[in-house]
Amino acid sequence: MAKVDIKYTKLFINNEWVDAVSKKTFPTINPQDESVIVQVAEGDKADIDLAVQAAKKAFHRYSEWRTLDASQRGRLLLKLADLMDRDAKYLSELETLDNGKPVTQAYGEIIWAAGIVRYYAGKADKILGSTIPADGDVLSFTLKEPVGVCGSILPWNYPVPMFIWKIAPALAAGCTLVVKPAEQTPLTALALAALVKEAGFPAGVVNVVPGYGPTAGGALTHHPDVDKVAFTGSTEVGRIIMNAAAAVNLKRVTLELGGKSPLVIFNDADVDKAADIAHRAAFANAGQCCVAATRTYVQAGIYDKFVAKAAEIAQKRKVGNPYEEVEQGPQIDKEMYDKVMSYIESGKKQARCVAGGNRVGSKGFFIQPTVFADVTDDMKISREEIFGPVQSIHKFDSFEEVVDRANDSNYGLGAGVVTNDVNIALAFIRHVRAGSVWVNTYEHLFINNEWVDAVSKKTFPTINPQDESVIVQVAEGDKADVDLAVAAAKKAFHR
Ligand code: NAD
Repeated sequence: MAKVDIKYTKLFINNEWVDAVSKKTFPTINPQDESVIVQVAEGDKADIDLAVQAAKKAFHRYSEWRTLDASQRGRLLLKLADLMDRDAKYLSELETLDNGKPVTQAYGEIIWAAGIVRYYAGKADKILGSTIPADGDVLSFTLKEPVGVCGSILPWNYPVPMFIWKIAPALAAGCTLVVKPAEQTPLTALALAALVKEAGFPAGVVNVVPGYGPTAGGALTHHPDVDKVAFTGSTEVGRIIMNAAAAVNLKRVTLELGGKSPLVIFNDADVDKAADIAHRAAFANAGQCCVAATRTYVQAGIYDKFVAKAAEIAQKRKVGNPYEEVEQGPQIDKEMYDKVMSYIESGKKQARCVAGGNRVGSKGFFIQPTVFADVTDDMKISREEIFGPVQSIHKFDSFEEVVDRANDSNYGLGAGVVTNDVNIALAFIRHVRAGSVWVNTYEHLFINNEWVDAVSKKTFPTINPQDESVIVQVAEGDKADVDLAVAAAKKAFHR
């Protein structure tokens, strides 16, 4: 297991590292072996009050932040993105320790999130209002103003991208923030807070207060000086947050909640390709993904062949130590592990289990990639969000039938279709009720960024010209490595 240096465990308020007012701490757990990684300061109402006060002061009309040019906000964001690139290897190792996701995936997420910061950096000085035609001498226009102090409540499944999705647009617009990371994954949020300070953001603009939901999260949603809350997580908590916001000051709320997304595969699809798309759609991030396509609908003509292929791919999926070359690490914690296993037990009683169905090993929260066939729409595993590595395969006959069945859900986050018929694809996009719809791919977001040894395993020294000493050994690429790099670049450039 990698030895990761944990530098930050306190609350980050007003650009300072402080203990909780209560002096309490809570443990963050390594999902790989269930050990305590470290104790982290446990924020609650008193700390949220201090953080909101700092964010409010930073938002004051004459503050350094409010009087900064919009383009300067963009430059600070660009600096933050560069620092994330610089520390990507460290941040990904820290993420893997706290969250359990494979380290190469975590690395890709940091680079991806840095790109999101750059996108919003470019937005900072392009937030434009408009003029409105009016009568006579009257001049009418809209002026876009920052909302104010934003509260951000984060989940644990994509800790770095979630942190960035919340702070980057708010900072581009000129808001200030108090962020409460998930109690399962506070470590990368604190490491990112250190980069926010290093980038040069003024004190109080970004504050990070780890703690539990009902205490720290509840205090943030109930705070009268918080102008907006952005939340990603479960539907139940989303409901609590909306009610709290309405009761206190009708603060603005954005909620990104759960899903039970359908992926529909028609008879004309290439079975191997479709099974591969469906596998990635269901099992990405160990199934801990809000848009995971966990309901796979397959047309009757290719159903049996598809089920066999889906089971074969799931059985081959590499599960294990996330610091090694695996596709899947452990689930996030004991609570989610138990929840997923109880859904698997329910599935075993009602449907046909064709792959997996058990835990992996005896320590850590590892679960076999599990595939159920002959699933019907009324089964618990078809209706409820599992948030684990479980794929449910359903059979269908006609387009009209499958669109109705895909839409028969309390959710509507994502959907996908695999077909070579453009008319079917376009009709599906129009009639399926989902926020994002993918055609012949699913959740197409990631790039492959990996650190590898030379194929030959050879290294060469790089020399310090000042004293002629060897600084370090560097991997020595030759023809075999250049071939791999060119193939990757060619693939990335493919139409
Ligand atoms: P959760 O909704 O319980 O927690 C998400 C965040 O909300 C955490 O930071 C938590 O501390 C906070 N929170 C909890 N109770 C709160 C309250 N009363 N007031 C304010 N904040 C509160 O989610 P979870 O326990 O991490 O996971 C449970 C379920 O959430 C999963 O099964 C899955 O369905 C869903 N989930 C969805 C996403 C997504 O991306 N949409 C991400 C993670 C989890």
